[in-house]
Amino acid sequence: MLEIKNLHARVADDETEILRGVDLTVQAGEVAAIMGPNGSGKSTLSYILAGREDYEVTEGDILYNDESILEMDPAERAAAGVFLAFQYPLEIPGVATMTFLKTALNSQRKARGEGELTTPDLMRRVKAAAADLKIDAAMLKRPLNVGFSGGEKKRAEILQMALLEPKLCVMDETDSGLDIDALKVVADGVNALRSPERAFLVITHYQRLLDYIVPDTVHVLYKGRIIKSGDKELALQLENEGYSQIIDEAA
Ligand code: ADP
Ligand code: MG
Ligand code: MG
Repeated sequence: MLEIKNLHARVADDETEILRGVDLTVQAGEVAAIMGPNGSGKSTLSYILAGREDYEVTEGDILYNDESILEMDPAERAAAGVFLAFQYPLEIPGVATMTFLKTALNSQRKARGEGELTTPDLMRRVKAAAADLKIDAAMLKRPLNVGFSGGEKKRAEILQMALLEPKLCVMDETDSGLDIDALKVVADGVNALRSPERAFLVITHYQRLLDYIVPDTVHVLYKGRIIKSGDKELALQLENEGYSQIIDEAA
């Protein structure tokens, strides 16, 4: 589903390369974890996949279902099924969460050539998905993410993900700032969405999340490169030994 080849990237107004030759393949149905110390380029990789315009690919390619997505803008990527859950979800004052979800869902349907959902149908879907994620219906009336706790913001991200039914879900440190109960709710939400047609790129600094979202593959990103890949045991090794041993081996 996803093939990242020798990807080099930087922030558009800065010469310094942040990604320095990332190679990564993710199959449909796979849950791939990307781990790495702070500053290794994890968020940059997720922004590049989503198509953020202030970031620039200088070399390499990203193939999604065998086609390069480098020339696609973020809306086109989203319509094609790429979803990014943010490390720091944006607050949108003045836009009720329900209204935001309605707009997101209907604009995606439009981009896919599908008809708009009626308001009752849409509200039914949103409420059902919210209930699954233990989101209080009152939260849907509040402006998106404004004054939400860390856990509520992450749940709102997973709610968007559940409703938009993406094919490739990129989750950037969805576990940061979550207590164990919120972590479990988020993990349950993700696990419920696992399917043979859907792949996940779960980006995390800590192993803890991977106790609940058990990955098929684990990749260590360090200084803009994947320096080691393995299965879930690699995450446990990192938990026990820290990153320094793997970094030394790679050097
Ligand atoms: P991670 O998510 O793994 O912590 P990031 O992708 O956020 O790493 O950052 C990787 C590196 O790129 C860091 O050294 C960071 O300082 C640098 N970086 C990130 N964003 C910018 C930016 N907007 N301008 C300049 N450097 C940046
Ligand atoms: Mg960071
Ligand atoms: Mg980050």
